[in-house]
Amino acid sequence: MSEGERFLVVSHVDPDGDAIGSTLTVGHLLRLLGKRAVMANASPVPAKYRELPGAEEIVRPQDLFDEPPFERVIAVDVADEDRMGDCRSLVAPDARLLNVDHHRTNTRFGTHHLINPEAAATAEVLYDWIESMGIKWTKPLASCVYTGLLTDTGGFRYSNTTPAVMKRAARLLECGVDAPRIAEQVLETLTIGQLNLLRRALSTLRLSEDRRIAWMWLTLQDFLEAEAGEGDLDGIVNYARNVIGVEVGILFRQLKSGAVKVSLRSRRWVDVSEVAGFFGGGGHARAAGCTVAGARDEVERRVLERVAEALGR
Ligand code: 5GP
Ligand code: MN
Ligand code: MN
Repeated sequence: MSEGERFLVVSHVDPDGDAIGSTLTVGHLLRLLGKRAVMANASPVPAKYRELPGAEEIVRPQDLFDEPPFERVIAVDVADEDRMGDCRSLVAPDARLLNVDHHRTNTRFGTHHLINPEAAATAEVLYDWIESMGIKWTKPLASCVYTGLLTDTGGFRYSNTTPAVMKRAARLLECGVDAPRIAEQVLETLTIGQLNLLRRALSTLRLSEDRRIAWMWLTLQDFLEAEAGEGDLDGIVNYARNVIGVEVGILFRQLKSGAVKVSLRSRRWVDVSEVAGFFGGGGHARAAGCTVAGARDEVERRVLERVAEALGR
């Protein structure tokens, strides 16, 4: 087999349903096209996505350190190169890299781009690509694309749930996707670690004086005591944003490096990707994140200040 036929498929650290669903979609596609696809993620696949077809084949970068770097790479749902984490080192310096994404803040890294900021999910970008190629839908392919649409729209609830998304989802159901099963797996299932983390996070919840900002903290100690990993964070920040009257919800999380990972969610109008962008991160208008170096109190103060500014006070 020639070198060009060996592809690496990667997504972002702390993968969500769009990251995993899109990774698997591209893996399936490459194999349909007769290529060799290696799928990798810098973080473990969260338990709730492990039932998706092919999920058990997603490896960690350390499993590939003995292999030569990849000359052909497809990055899905990755807004900037750093988000690939340790998978970055698997990419050859002169690699041809196709960047498939929907983040408005995408840095357009790589040599080839398939980026649609209007799309609700990277899975929607892939849906359109599959249709344009005239590739026949299989149930595994449809299930992986459906998962990306489902999770990035918050279960078809967020403002990115366009008529186009619903039409595509309907078409995927016609291809045999088991929608209630996927919804049960990815939306209605909690790990004990997640529940333990949630308990701890909720106990730290604080509100700004005007009650329009709510924030929570998780320390390294919390992760240890909750016996939880990064994959157990999914959805926790939403509890802050969901408090009645709150426009911006924030989860601060202490990283091993000493820096603080900040997850931001807004309810209706604050563009949190601008706040995250100010600190070198990015994301979407209603969901964004960044990593900020500094002492915990200091990071909290700076981020809250910036959010308050975005709220216009
Ligand atoms: P989360 O808060 O769930 O980690 O991320 C929410 C959104 O913000 C996701 O769309 C994610 O891609 C984006 N995001 C989170 N952290 C970062 C970051 O450090 N840099 C960039 N560019 N985007 C981020
Ligand atoms: Mn994502
Ligand atoms: Mn996405």
